[in-house]
Amino acid sequence: MRRLEVERNARNILRDHNLLQLPVDPLKVAHALNIRVMNAKFSEENKSGVVSKRGNDLSIYLDYDDPSWRKRFTIAHEIAHIVLHMLEGDSEYIDAEDNFRNTSPEAGQWTDEKQKEWEANVFAAALLMDGDLVKAEWSKTHELSLLAWKFQVSETAMAIRLSTLNLTEEYV
Ligand SMILES: [Zn+2]
Repeated sequence: MRRLEVERNARNILRDHNLLQLPVDPLKVAHALNIRVMNAKFSEENKSGVVSKRGNDLSIYLDYDDPSWRKRFTIAHEIAHIVLHMLEGDSEYIDAEDNFRNTSPEAGQWTDEKQKEWEANVFAAALLMDGDLVKAEWSKTHELSLLAWKFQVSETAMAIRLSTLNLTEEYV
């Protein structure tokens, strides 16, 4: 799936549920899609998120200790697995921290698995930082920290998003 298609998916979900407003609340998006979100204590150190589908039961587990901006991104990333990758049958995704890093199809060896993680990150960024909302806010202020605060994301995530939307030259 290409970037534009993934972004359109995220945008449609926000529109359909009337949740396209600042800051986007991924928890509300999850609830609108009948997904339960729970905090968990993972036994493995670098595990950051799990999503499972068992029949009609859709559940996302977050690392209890993660800061709130991190949890927001994790919820958005796991929602992506549900709406893009878990369409048939029961399945589960277990995400280590590395899966949330920004990767691109050009970097290193590309696999189906990496493609799915890339799609989930593209979707998460689009969900939390809708292109039109970011452009509108960027036209009011060029201050990265203020934008990150308005969208309740990390400055790193916002910097990458600005670059993806061709609003800055940094983090290319
Ligand atoms: Zn993932």
